[in-house]
Amino acid sequence: MTTIVPAAGSTAPIPAGPARVDIDLPAIAHNTEILAAKAPDAEVMAVVKADGYGHGAPAVARTALEAGATSLGVTTLAEAVALRQVGISAPILAWLYSAGDDVSGVIGAGIDIAVPSPEHLDAVVAGARKSGMRARVTPKLDTGLGRSGIMPLHWERTFDRLVAAEREGIIEVTGLMAHFANADAPGDPVIDSQVTALHEAVEQARSMGLECPRNHHSNSAGTLTRGSDGFEIVRPGIALYGLSPIEGEDFGLRPAMTFSAEVLMVKDVNEGQGISYGHSWIAPRDTVVALVAAGYADGVWRLLSNNFDVQLRGGRYAQVGRVCMDQFVVELGPRTASGAVPGGIRAGDRAVMFGDPARGAPHAGDWADKLGTIHYEVVCAARGRAARYVHTTSLQGEE
Ligand SMILES: *Cc1c(COP(=O)(O)O)cnc(C)c1O
Repeated sequence: MTTIVPAAGSTAPIPAGPARVDIDLPAIAHNTEILAAKAPDAEVMAVVKADGYGHGAPAVARTALEAGATSLGVTTLAEAVALRQVGISAPILAWLYSAGDDVSGVIGAGIDIAVPSPEHLDAVVAGARKSGMRARVTPKLDTGLGRSGIMPLHWERTFDRLVAAEREGIIEVTGLMAHFANADAPGDPVIDSQVTALHEAVEQARSMGLECPRNHHSNSAGTLTRGSDGFEIVRPGIALYGLSPIEGEDFGLRPAMTFSAEVLMVKDVNEGQGISYGHSWIAPRDTVVALVAAGYADGVWRLLSNNFDVQLRGGRYAQVGRVCMDQFVVELGPRTASGAVPGGIRAGDRAVMFGDPARGAPHAGDWADKLGTIHYEVVCAARGRAARYVHTTSLQGEE
């Protein structure tokens, strides 16, 4: 995403990119508190992978930690180290890397590392020896997800090796982790079987001599519907950002991201005028349209062409014609009897593509439904020239 830097030697302002995401940090704090209250007996590990689901990992991490989270979860080793480098000192766990990676530098940076296969344990043992530091590791067990994680057949052998590595002083096991397959479908029997499997694994590891003080399983869906399931940490991601993983229930979460772009011009078109490439929409009447400066290069899917609304000055207007790389068109409707543009829309206004429904904006989930995907993918989509603005005061109550 764009960072605006003035040209060297010039004090003249450079217009910011017309597409932007605005991040409501108080909403992140509010959502963190909701999650913590759902699992009062557990600590919250805030998942800020993928640049905080597109919201900006450092600001989200700091906000969640201030609001009660005690650690952070990310995917890659580089994401973890980047958070250390901006001065975040809380525990950070990273869970996806190659068993061929040299992890000594990451151990040296004080990052907790998941161990999702026996081969990964080889890498961590080698990295710990090389770094001369004790590696903090979290075996990641496959309790039924069928993705990353150590299969049950290898648990006992892995625990044995970890006991030996703890004795040698090169490894400290912080706890076990697993990940749900179907937590967004409460009542699915796989959920209970995974919970039971992790509890049994913790018991087994402890009986073999691993203390495993902090174990975790619950993503957002698990945390919101079942709390911690008796484990010591919950590990939510999407709900921190105000989006509910459970169909039809919002749990009082507040969406933290608003994606908008500027209206660059407003103009009259005659009945019969085709709009944008391919003329996929033909004006059915004399009407007024607005040109909005965001396109698929900025995260507005071309697949949404002729199929979404934007919020402009409190009203909703239909997008018409094909979404292009850099821009799209919205129909404002015929001029009023007095000749005014509907809604008083003019160049410079901001068209909100999705944001907080409490402020009248479309929801990221609306796009997800139309696209046949999930809102997770929608909030990760803003990119290209979109600039991110992070707000420490609530956006609710503005306007
Ligand atoms: C992404 C992720 C999470 C967070 O999941 P949400 O559904 O966003 O709450 C937790 N744990 C792991 C291992 C993940 O990859």
